[in-house]
Amino acid sequence: MKKMILWGAIVSLLLTITSANDTKAWLMDINTREKLDPKVKKSLDIKSEVKKVAVKKEPKIATQNVDIAKINRAILELKELRISLDIEKKRIEADKKSLNKAKAELSLALQAIINAKVSIEKEKALLSKNKISQKKTEIVKIDKVIKPVIKKTTTSKVDIKITNIGNKSIGDIIKESLGKSELATTKAPTTREVPKPIKYDRKPREMREVRKIDSSSASNLDVFDYKLKAKQVAKNVWCFFGALDKPTKENAGYMVNSCYIKTKDGYLAMDTGPSYQFAKQSYAVMQKIADLPVKYVVNSHEHDDHWLGNDYFKKRFNATLIGPESINKNYKDGDKTRMYNILPENAIKGTHIIDLDKIVKEAFTLTLGGEEFKIIPMDVKAHTGDDVFIYMPKRKVLFAGDLVMNGRITSGRHGSVMGQLKALAMMQKLDWKVLVPGHGFITDARAMDEAKLYFQLTKDRILKAIDEGVDATEINDVVKLIEFKDKAMYDILNAHNVGFAFEELEMLDDE
Ligand SMILES: [Zn+2]
Repeated sequence: MKKMILWGAIVSLLLTITSANDTKAWLMDINTREKLDPKVKKSLDIKSEVKKVAVKKEPKIATQNVDIAKINRAILELKELRISLDIEKKRIEADKKSLNKAKAELSLALQAIINAKVSIEKEKALLSKNKISQKKTEIVKIDKVIKPVIKKTTTSKVDIKITNIGNKSIGDIIKESLGKSELATTKAPTTREVPKPIKYDRKPREMREVRKIDSSSASNLDVFDYKLKAKQVAKNVWCFFGALDKPTKENAGYMVNSCYIKTKDGYLAMDTGPSYQFAKQSYAVMQKIADLPVKYVVNSHEHDDHWLGNDYFKKRFNATLIGPESINKNYKDGDKTRMYNILPENAIKGTHIIDLDKIVKEAFTLTLGGEEFKIIPMDVKAHTGDDVFIYMPKRKVLFAGDLVMNGRITSGRHGSVMGQLKALAMMQKLDWKVLVPGHGFITDARAMDEAKLYFQLTKDRILKAIDEGVDATEINDVVKLIEFKDKAMYDILNAHNVGFAFEELEMLDDE
């Protein structure tokens, strides 16, 4: 159709050009009008001659006859001249008309060409648009086929990386600790294979006791009274279980777990709580159980609710402080960290930030008073970029730090869902009977079920949403992890965690 319009335009343009040639010829003819001028001139001359003859008052018969004949001839010539002028005039008018007509036709033809051009451009644009959207559809189709493959490849890459701790594989660690590797790797209890959401009293006894603190009287005292009670979780292992809450003036940072492991030569403390006062008061409780010095302190990660008590053990026992490099790197005395800003003055006063003595870069075994501690760093970002956990192979006790929480929602702001799943997979391979979380009260075989389920659902649902084209602004409407809505701090942390996880998994998806 469009082609026909174009051809029509070209034909009429050709026609116009042909008639324009005629016009040119005519214009040249007009120039020949000058040739007529002598005729006009001649008629004028004749007229003046007639006048002259009329004026001459001495006519001679002979000449008179000649003159009359001349006049008649002149009149005839004039008549002829007039006729040819009229013809000329008519021809000019006719030519004018045909010129105008040609002009009109030309402009029509031009318009037709312009129209044809416009419609060709439109058609071109439409064609490329169709092509682009066709290509897009093709890309989406290819994406759907390729993405799962890419995802599988990336995930398995991460798997391989994480199962190595320093130079030792997790299998080596198990072999070393148990002496028989097959047993340990095949012995995972079924309760840990199939995680189920756990329902229990939202305010366990320890938490209710924390709540009992009379905040007004506690804050009126010279020194905040944490009212600590140690709970034995295994032979020679006691822990202080903090509230399932964010740090507040009322709990003074006692919303974190801190443990003591007794050996015949002294204690090893895993995480030292949110303040110097907390460490001092927790040790006072332990001293009544067994009056032994604290020889070692191990910190699970850099969040300050877990290690601000370190200074107490350094001052009192010159304990060796062991932990992740991030503590030395990111904190120095005088920094106003989170606990300094939240805790009441009578709880935080006297708390100083000091450097760790030994940085955990590779897994190693620490022996104290006949007890063996495997100090294991994560080599990927998990709860933070730099996490450490302790495994006691003979006692089958694992201190997970914040890699495991239960009863509350974790805080994913410095973490990684993929790294967390990795950490949990590592821990699941270890043969433990007691697992102490960084926050939460469950320490039996179910201790990490909630964490596993939380991170697994987070990963699966966000990846599915990404595949379905859900973007960052919509992800919290799509992925809510509603199974966890009754867990402590769900309202404060869950949506943020989903947001952080989306950013992480979207990048993974793009790789
Ligand atoms: Zn924590």
